[in-house]
Formats: sequence, C-alpha cells, structure tokens
Amino acid sequence: MQARIDRAKCIGCGNCEDACPELFRVADDGYALPRTEHIEPEQLGCARDAELSCPTEAITLE
Ligand code: SF4
Repeated sequence: MQARIDRAKCIGCGNCEDACPELFRVADDGYALPRTEHIEPEQLGCARDAELSCPTEAITLE
C-alpha cells in the first residue's frame, strides 16, 4: 500500500505528521510529503489515522 498526498489540496496544517510521524512529514516548503513509498501492514492503522486527520482530504491510501 502507498500513501499519496495531493499537494494542491494540502494546507500544511501538520495533522498528518502529528497523527503518524513515521509515515508523514511537513516539508520545508510547508506542504506534506510521505516518508516512504510502501506502507507495511503494521503501519496501516497509523496511515488511516493520518488520512482521517486531514481536513482537506489530501491523503489517499491505495
Ligand atoms: Fe496537508 Fe492534510 Fe497533512 Fe494537513 S493533514 S499537512 S492538509 S496532508
């Protein structure tokens, strides 16, 4: 599984990093980036928490 971030929707609030810092970070340009290409099965709960925490629905798990 992979996390994608639509940076056009991202407002840089940092919720995803707060919810799941092992998978998401807010980059120097102020918008979020995934930390990894592949989400391991044991990281799925964390990834979902981040997805749900995003106020603009910029994160999709696929
Ligand atoms: Fe961007 Fe959503 Fe993360 Fe906020 S929670 S930094 S809007 S991707």
